[in-house]
Amino acid sequence: MSKEFVDVLVIGAGPSGCVSSSYLKKNNINVKVVEKTKFPRLVVGESLIPRVMDHFDEAGLFPALDKMGFEKKLGARFLRGDEVCIFDFSDKFGEGWDWTWQVPRADFDNTLAQEVINKGIDLEFETEVIGIEFNGTDSITTVKNKDGETKEIHAKFVIDSSGYGRVLPRLLDLEKPSKLSPHSAIFAHVEDINREEGTEGTLISFDIIETEVWLWVIPFSNGNTSVGIVGPTEYIDKLSENGDTAEALRKAISLSDYYVKRFGNVDFLFEPKHLKDYSCSVKKLFGDGFALTGNASEFLDPVFSSGMAFATEGGMTAAKLALRQLNGEKVDWQTEFADYILYGVDVFTTYVKEWYTGNLQELFFHQPENPDVKKKICAVLAGYVWNKDNPFVKKHDTVIKNLANLIKMEKQQQ
Ligand code: FAD
Repeated sequence: MSKEFVDVLVIGAGPSGCVSSSYLKKNNINVKVVEKTKFPRLVVGESLIPRVMDHFDEAGLFPALDKMGFEKKLGARFLRGDEVCIFDFSDKFGEGWDWTWQVPRADFDNTLAQEVINKGIDLEFETEVIGIEFNGTDSITTVKNKDGETKEIHAKFVIDSSGYGRVLPRLLDLEKPSKLSPHSAIFAHVEDINREEGTEGTLISFDIIETEVWLWVIPFSNGNTSVGIVGPTEYIDKLSENGDTAEALRKAISLSDYYVKRFGNVDFLFEPKHLKDYSCSVKKLFGDGFALTGNASEFLDPVFSSGMAFATEGGMTAAKLALRQLNGEKVDWQTEFADYILYGVDVFTTYVKEWYTGNLQELFFHQPENPDVKKKICAVLAGYVWNKDNPFVKKHDTVIKNLANLIKMEKQQQ
């Protein structure tokens, strides 16, 4: 079997793997990326949040993405019947980017991967990791290409960014069930022939059908729009009980008074995808010689579009720590990686849970709006979940519940 020797092997060329490999290459590390599929490939996760821009910028990937003319996302709109709540990222607490993109991921990820190649990084497509052995922090990874040929890649450090491939969680028995209750989704892209002119046509929106059921509408600059329904797994299973995902998504669209006119009669550009029980977790985020990032580690829920932000945060943090370790520094992976990432995960976990209890929806739609509360929640929705100056970050486990209870009491007294 042939052998290759690198400093860092990155598994998966999604956003997480592209951010970590670009950062390492920029710092003169010999890094290789192996990717199971051929790009462009379809993947879900089209609504970004501003925190990702920090990572694309630092990794040197921003200019290539910026040239693509993806639809700019300046905030997000939540709808519940006649009630509307719009967050504007420029009106948030604290520092940080006030815009990002909403993107067809096939094009977006392909742009990232091509830019990684342009930077001189060895990215091998159609090459799948099938085994790994560790000897201290050194590892030997076995990969197989599309012709069935195998080879060994010897690395001093491995970053697993394999998304739902979950390569190291599977190979090292690190899988752990998510703490969140099981939810599923069905989504497709449509040619948005009824799209209105101006902001209405391009605004990213989440329409609440029932407390735990919501429809996403993510318009792209190419004229297509992503439409998806999310809900408890039982609900989504029932919607698609005969296995016809197109019929299920049509039914879901018909439940949205706001969007039925725009999407009721449009064709799906591919057979809608059913993503069942999408939340996942791991027993640990790192070990001797490896770190897990993005969906290869933890995925919560699409409701606040945090997936890509954790993917790039994890990729960037792992790359910085791996660089320091390769340069001979001692790295405390527990504190500097796991505890750090899991702090942000905990904050978003609270927001996701409180979304599905309905408490957060109470806050979103409460009238009159409290501008101070809104700014602070907006900073969380922008992905700035490590800013402990923000009480909606620092006291996340109590603040939403307490405010929602106050609102409910106020309503009872009326
Ligand atoms: P990926 O983008 O999945 O990339 C992983 C790569 O690894 C893939 O290209 C894969 O082919 C490759 N790979 C897999 N196995 C192997 C192997 N054995 N060897 C080599 N390569 C391998 N996030 C958002 O930010 N916004 C959203 O609006 C959003 N919506 C979502 C909706 C749903 C229903 C779900 C389930 C998720 C959503 N997400 C969203 C989450 C988002 O999809 C992920 O968080 C994001 O894609 C993670 O990026 P990644 O780089 O970790 O993994």
